[in-house]
Amino acid sequence: MNADTKNLVSELRNAGFTMEAIDAAWPSWWTDDAESSPSARTELRFALARKLGLSPKPLLGERVEFVWNDEARFKHLTAQDKLQQSVLSSFGVSIGRILVRSLEKSSHSSITAGALRQAILSSSDYVDLKSLISFCWSIGIPIIHLRVFPLAAKNMHAMVVSTEGQYAILLGKDDKYPAPLAFTLAHEIGHILLGHLANTPALVDMADPGEGDADDNQEVQANEFALELLTGSPKPNIQTEIEFFSARALAESVINAGPHYKIEPGTLALCAGYVTKRWPAAIGALRHIYGQPTPLWESINNFAAQQIEWDRISIESAEYLSNIMNVANG
Ligand SMILES: [Zn+2]
Repeated sequence: MNADTKNLVSELRNAGFTMEAIDAAWPSWWTDDAESSPSARTELRFALARKLGLSPKPLLGERVEFVWNDEARFKHLTAQDKLQQSVLSSFGVSIGRILVRSLEKSSHSSITAGALRQAILSSSDYVDLKSLISFCWSIGIPIIHLRVFPLAAKNMHAMVVSTEGQYAILLGKDDKYPAPLAFTLAHEIGHILLGHLANTPALVDMADPGEGDADDNQEVQANEFALELLTGSPKPNIQTEIEFFSARALAESVINAGPHYKIEPGTLALCAGYVTKRWPAAIGALRHIYGQPTPLWESINNFAAQQIEWDRISIESAEYLSNIMNVANG
């Protein structure tokens, strides 16, 4: 690597990007020989700018500028500084654009949580992670689980991108069991269907949406939407007969009660944990319900890889997207 390329990498690192994000975006055609060609060096910069969501002009002069600076809306923002927000939104919006362009355009009419629940229940036992993912893809909202993060702190829960009248959902948090991730996904679907992306290219949920932020009306609305979608009520009235239940007892009771209420047992366990504030038992119950924890991102991204119409996007974009998803493309 010559001094010029080294400078470029360190500019991107200084801007806040992780080495893994830079590697994922680095074009595969780049070779040491290419360094001697001014046009190849220019093309390298354009390629990186497109993929990471940067303005190419300053990058040619080695100064990083973000395309979607200050426009995204961040939820539960604590210690994140402005630069980190820019890195996340630029990275996410550029991936969202690639995803949206890989599908035929679809129109999104507004639908209530209750109506959506009925539609999903007409072909599934529960509104759960799997049926929510299938639903999103069926109406042209792509969902992937990020395997490469632009920032060293991998603390983004999920992000919704709005571009060209279309939406994409990027999941960040590695949940071990389906129910917590189903809640996050239902919350993000709420943001889309409630029109929360009307004036912003991206909405980023940094922390667990389930922890709630009573001061943020959109967060309250998206959580109520998620609960109604998953359980049939925006404020589920969950009652437990015993006050101090064990994880195993809770698992047994939700496995029995779930089919009756058409609420996926893991989701019901989380609701019971929330109502009683007995989180360790609720989390412990998930293990009894689902068995060994499994890497959920694999099935999410393998399903996504089947849904993406790879030949609609450029080879360069396809290569980048499959790096980000850690799947083979095409
Ligand atoms: Zn949110």
